[in-house]
Amino acid sequence: MAKLIDGKAYAEALRGRIAVAVASLKKNHNLTPGLAVVLVGEDPASKVYVANKAKQTVEVGMNSWEHKMPADTSEADLLAIVQKLNNDSSVHGILVQMPVPKHIDSAKVLNTIDPAKDVDGFHVVNVGRLSTGQDALTACTPVGCVMLAKATLGKLDGLNAVVIGRSNIVGKPVAQLLLAENCTVTIAHSKSKDLPGIVRQADLVIAAVGRPEMVKGDWIKPGACVIDVGINRIERDGKNKLVGDCDFASCEKVAGSITPVPGGVGPMTIACLLHNTVKAAAAMKGIKTPEM
Ligand code: NAD
Repeated sequence: MAKLIDGKAYAEALRGRIAVAVASLKKNHNLTPGLAVVLVGEDPASKVYVANKAKQTVEVGMNSWEHKMPADTSEADLLAIVQKLNNDSSVHGILVQMPVPKHIDSAKVLNTIDPAKDVDGFHVVNVGRLSTGQDALTACTPVGCVMLAKATLGKLDGLNAVVIGRSNIVGKPVAQLLLAENCTVTIAHSKSKDLPGIVRQADLVIAAVGRPEMVKGDWIKPGACVIDVGINRIERDGKNKLVGDCDFASCEKVAGSITPVPGGVGPMTIACLLHNTVKAAAAMKGIKTPEM
């Protein structure tokens, strides 16, 4: 049976180290990192995410601001808030919760955020820096995936990594990070041929598809590490259930290690957001990022 990768425990430990780093920035540099989150509209899932982000930001000792705007907010008004936050020196991280309502151009919003405050890592400048091997603020879920893989496997040098999914949010940035860790990276997607055959080559599988339990145990190379990013809500036996993109029951029999859903990659995302905010604050102050 595969070793269970406990993302919840790993994220909790990371938040503990972040709190220590924040306390040291306050004491030694009179610097309190601050994260501003902007939410447009009433999407229930987004409201929960934003509330969790604010709660965890405060818990590690950072400043937190929430800007809640109605669903009919114009693009110009949203861009004006982003500009205001860009110009506010007490704000080190800006996150506009996605998705924004359809009448707003999300790429325009993301690219209006000052790249130095882009703690979601979605600005083209940060994406470009990541893909050219320069220091960058990098998307949180991909960073969390690689942290869990390294905590489980140690060095990733030379491993065959297969990333399933090519989104800008997960698939592409996680592939870039794995390349930077010296993996041989394959990106598979909806048009890939013989997906099971591709996945069977992998020492490390990152599944970021959004299709419940798609990856089966007989796709997995014995002993491989499986990082399941998928969060899918399904109904089973009359109950609502969260499942990943991997069929956990069959995969755990073959894999060497595997993340559960929930409790795997999910909790890492906010912890990595806080990590990015500390990094952004230190960079803005011109000091070294504390160890976390
Ligand atoms: P997306 O819809 O933007 O991208 C999905 C990708 O999967 C696409 O690139 C597509 O080519 C690929 N794909 C679709 N069907 C496929 C198939 N049959 N075979 C192979 N590839 C296929 O999704 P996303 O934003 O990248 O998110 C993926 C999953 O990760 C979702 O379940 C999402 O909820 C979850 N997610 C979790 C977190 C977190 O843990 N915090 C964060 C982001 C996304």
